[in-house]
Amino acid sequence: PTADSAAGQAVKAADRAHVFHSWSAQALIDPLAVAGAEGSYFWDYEGKRYLDFSSQLVNTNIGHQHPKVVAAIQEQAAKLCTIAPGFAQESRSEAARLIAERTPGDLDKIFFTNGGAEANENAIRMARLHTGRQKVLSTYRSYHGATANAIALTGDPRRWANETGVSGIVHFWGPYAYRSVFHATSEAQECERALAHLEQVIAFEGPGTVAAVILETVVGTAGILIPPPGYLAGVREICDRYGIVFILDEVMAGFGRTGEWFAADHWDVTPDLLTFAKGVNSGYVPLGGVAISGAIADTFAERPFPGGLTYSGHPLACASAVATINAMAEEGIVENARAIGEKVLGPGLRELAERHPSIGEVRGLGVFWALDLVKNRETREPLVPYNASGADNAPAAALAAACKQRGLWPFVNMNRFHVVPPCTITEEEAKTGLAILDEVLTLTDAHTV
Ligand code: PLP
Repeated sequence: PTADSAAGQAVKAADRAHVFHSWSAQALIDPLAVAGAEGSYFWDYEGKRYLDFSSQLVNTNIGHQHPKVVAAIQEQAAKLCTIAPGFAQESRSEAARLIAERTPGDLDKIFFTNGGAEANENAIRMARLHTGRQKVLSTYRSYHGATANAIALTGDPRRWANETGVSGIVHFWGPYAYRSVFHATSEAQECERALAHLEQVIAFEGPGTVAAVILETVVGTAGILIPPPGYLAGVREICDRYGIVFILDEVMAGFGRTGEWFAADHWDVTPDLLTFAKGVNSGYVPLGGVAISGAIADTFAERPFPGGLTYSGHPLACASAVATINAMAEEGIVENARAIGEKVLGPGLRELAERHPSIGEVRGLGVFWALDLVKNRETREPLVPYNASGADNAPAAALAAACKQRGLWPFVNMNRFHVVPPCTITEEEAKTGLAILDEVLTLTDAHTV
């Protein structure tokens, strides 16, 4: 990277004058102007490089500017930039085939969207039409997107400002052994009690009214919560018993993030619908979708599916997905994510926990890890409170700022520090990030009592 302060200032000035940013009070933000990126790094106009431990919004699974994917987008652009969804088109057909080959079980039909929220919108539309029922159950501590239904499904504070009150969506508690709402003292007990709780919620909502249960296979932004063994199989069994559609949201967990193509592969569970986005093409061009079971696809064999998008199966997005999936397979990128998790991040983060009293729990898989930060290990009181406003989050904000100052781009959500680098990260890069974390965690340690 070379410095060009004047160019950076122009980019920043136009941004501040005209760009309206997501999730922000517009006058209170100070976005970094980014000049370029490659692999696990991006850099600003001052020439300062950042090691990306956030994968942007946890989507750059193959890192930045993968040459094979850049080339595939360029080739597709030269050939055919756009064509309506009604046509059969080469990159669309091939992306669908490559995804269907990797999704579990009989999830063999792919409906393409522009991102994750639209994937979830269409999954619940399919579930409601397939079952003739209206209610959808989702968990507290989840994120499913920012469109009307997807934000209503969401179980974090981003939902609060967006609820209409007539969503037909009911929340329940998923398993989270470290902060068990079931007063469980073991993972097995957490699993058993979480399943009994879901069963009871269904009983009281009326099994005949519930169209779908939707879960993130591994909860992402809301905490990197790994389901205990048996939980997903238990939900599958409950859904089967009541004729409820089981939807797994793999928008963040899919495409290598957990060290498998899909997180569901860790537990050998097949949902009826699986939603994806992000890692499918690392976000090089917006793309998401729903992988659909045979039974649900059959519902729409003779009856039209009442949903669609102008850009469903966009040729550039699909070409980038084809190149991404092929590069991931050829270069062993999923295997790298698993190995980095097992050999570097897992042991490295556990070692940090030995030295830093502000780390309450370390949990994760592949390149999908969280540090649950606490004020006190005994009481497990979170380092900062759970709220929507960011009030009292100064210790977490100071941790993030210290990372940035040292050239590490962090992902911080409430009292958690997520370690979510690209699946392509090298051992050396991962160790560089861990060394910076070791330095900055002394700041949060100072808040422990
Ligand atoms: N589902 C999960 C699990 C996510 O993490 C996200 C985004 O962070 C979404 C859905 C929404 O995806 P998008 O922002 O592409 O609409």
